[in-house]
Amino acid sequence: MKILVIDDEPFARKLLMHQLGRLGVEHAQPCASAQEALALLERPGESPDLIFCDLQMPEMDGVEFVRHLVRAGYAGGLVLVSGEDERLVQTAAKLARAHKLKVLGALNKPVPIDSLKQFLDGDVAHSPAQGRNERKTYSAERLRRAIADGELVNHYQPKVELPSGAVAGFETLVRWRHPEDGLIFPDQFIPLAEESGLINELTRSVLRTALRHARAWSDDGFPLQVAVNVSMDNLVSLDFPDFVERALGEAGIAASGLLLEVTESRLMKDPLAPLEVLTRLRLKRIGLSIDDFGTGHSSLAQVRDIPFSELKVDRGFVHGAWRDASLRAILEASLGMARQLGMKTVAEGVEDREDWDFLRDSDCELAQGWFIAKAMPPEQIPDWIADWEVRRPTVVDFGTRSTP
Ligand code: C2E
Ligand code: CA
Ligand code: CA
Repeated sequence: MKILVIDDEPFARKLLMHQLGRLGVEHAQPCASAQEALALLERPGESPDLIFCDLQMPEMDGVEFVRHLVRAGYAGGLVLVSGEDERLVQTAAKLARAHKLKVLGALNKPVPIDSLKQFLDGDVAHSPAQGRNERKTYSAERLRRAIADGELVNHYQPKVELPSGAVAGFETLVRWRHPEDGLIFPDQFIPLAEESGLINELTRSVLRTALRHARAWSDDGFPLQVAVNVSMDNLVSLDFPDFVERALGEAGIAASGLLLEVTESRLMKDPLAPLEVLTRLRLKRIGLSIDDFGTGHSSLAQVRDIPFSELKVDRGFVHGAWRDASLRAILEASLGMARQLGMKTVAEGVEDREDWDFLRDSDCELAQGWFIAKAMPPEQIPDWIADWEVRRPTVVDFGTRSTP
């Protein structure tokens, strides 16, 4: 493994080099400035697997260096190190991640040797895309055919109650089972569906399938709520509430068995139509959730104007809130506001044990995220429920927490 250590401070640089040596690293290269590192990176065949970079450096600081790394198409791991305050390093790391760099850590100096070891043991050479497909773009016509031919499939991610862990329902997450390209995730085709006017067909097909699955769970003895994502573009069709009501009737599901999760991905030209549609859906007692709360347009104005029954705090404010005071403040304020308005609260992006424990101590009502389960095809749901019932006691009865 080739490693680059960039720090203008000779002592810090030598210390890190020495620690890496103790951990058995043979190919570490020290650099006294970002410029020196960039010159090295330009040499063919010299691309390192891992870079440790100081944030505070004269001439070119770590943030500027990150920009150059992006331009150079650097694909290895990056660890940011700094003597500055914690929030600044975290912000710099967020910035680098937003540029799609593989940031393995953001640390204060001196770097603890355990953390170093962790970075070296980690699968550094692995791609950052979580095994997802290479980005490829599709034509509207191809997507239209996919919808018509049934290539879109629903996966489901559980939502569980806090603090008991009881399963409350499932969120539908659509995937495209492409015959050549494999499983394609929604961020690669939902925007296209919205721009090309295919979103109506897409949502209606996803919703009908979701209700059919909900019917099957109910017949198997699990009357669980199913959530479906709708985009604002769906809500300009004034007949949408009637369509939903008909679909519920056909599936034999009560209105309370369905929840629509709404995100405003772009500003609406005519804000009155969605308001009318959402109000009518609520009158029909269909659940409405404000999705990705805290980001983009999913904001206070919507909470003021639209009768949502649930507020879903964006995962950007959930994962890691236990160790980040800013996230925690936003999460807690959002939960408090939702409670005052009588809305149900959901935290998404509960990724690990720390997130889970932290939320169990908060007054959030529902949790969703990889710690509980990733989205799965419907045929896996019965097994997952059985497994979760076995695992549940180990995640709710541990430690000092008391369960009512
Ligand atoms: P979303 O509604 O916010 O859905 C949650 C996304 O976060 C899902 O990604 C889910 O797999 C992912 N996720 C779940 N748990 C965790 C976690 O613990 N950590 C992290 N980092 N991520 C987690 P996915 O399936 O790729 O969906 C992306 C977005 O696509 C969704 O975001 C939703 O806005 C949109 N989408 C999905 N299905 C549909 C649909 O049928 N219609 C519409 N209009 N949009 C959809
Ligand atoms: Ca959602
Ligand atoms: Ca969301």
